[in-house]
Amino acid sequence: MKRLVIGALLILSFMVIVGCQNTTTSTPNQTTTLLTTLAPITTDVSTTADPTTITPTTVVPTTLIPSTMTSTTLLPTTMAPTTLLPTTLPTTSPTTTALVVTESVETYLAGTLDEFSIYKYETNVPGPTFFIIGGIHGNERAGWMAGLQMRQYPFERGVVYVLPVANKRAATAEPPVRYVSGLSDLNRAFPGNASGTTTQKLAHVIFQAIASCEPDIVLDLHESRFSYDSGGLGDSIILHLPRYSLYLDSLLYEFNHMAFMADKQPFTNLNAPPTGSINKEFSDRYNIPVFTIETNRNTPNNTIESEINPLEDRIEQQLAFIKLFLDTFELS
Ligand SMILES: [Zn+2]
Repeated sequence: MKRLVIGALLILSFMVIVGCQNTTTSTPNQTTTLLTTLAPITTDVSTTADPTTITPTTVVPTTLIPSTMTSTTLLPTTMAPTTLLPTTLPTTSPTTTALVVTESVETYLAGTLDEFSIYKYETNVPGPTFFIIGGIHGNERAGWMAGLQMRQYPFERGVVYVLPVANKRAATAEPPVRYVSGLSDLNRAFPGNASGTTTQKLAHVIFQAIASCEPDIVLDLHESRFSYDSGGLGDSIILHLPRYSLYLDSLLYEFNHMAFMADKQPFTNLNAPPTGSINKEFSDRYNIPVFTIETNRNTPNNTIESEINPLEDRIEQQLAFIKLFLDTFELS
């Protein structure tokens, strides 16, 4: 009887310890996640995880048997030691795959005044395909500067395309302008025309390029001269497709409660983008949401610099919105 009790206790002890071994298997996964977060985005860090540390060989039953007792007297003869090993213990490397981000770039209209590049960041994590476009209007600098900064963003899921500066002529003019003299407004020219005016041709190439990426969502980075309560579109996000209104409302709520927004005009949602804008035309053609972020330049005299709402703050707002979209947008 005493032997049976001791035997039962040992088996229980062994199960408890094996159970602990089971729980400790999560540690390498956590380590992998941390390393992934800190690693450069273009580096495959899968080799940093050491799968051998969680193989079942660390829980050999013989280590649980007191040295003063022989295993043969305590273990039931009908049960081989190996049958005590949980079948759920992983025998291979952790199931969590290290994040890999593959970067590539494609240049359009190369060698012309309208040359532009689209950067592609493809992760090995499932998620939506995003397309971010900035600089359709050259003097809306917070938009295209945020777009340029996205080339250093630590992408974590899905696929993200970034076209930082769509209207190169307007953005590189001194000073930057909405569109250069002699041409026309690019954001009234979509979907464009391959045999049309210079602006229509550029609109056509951009529109086709975005379509070829087959995005699930487009983020369109702009600025306005005034806030929405002063006759402008500033401090807003424009959405054409009503079925994404609830999602946008929750996103705006979260954004407006961020610490850096404490002394700023809260952002609101607007609709009805104009004919010829990338927002209206792409939404209508492909039935996917296009969100136009309109920071507020707050420049009554239409100067480039805003004394009231500094460029740095507006870039911060653009980047914060982009991050919210990248983190929260899900396919419906
Ligand atoms: Zn604009």
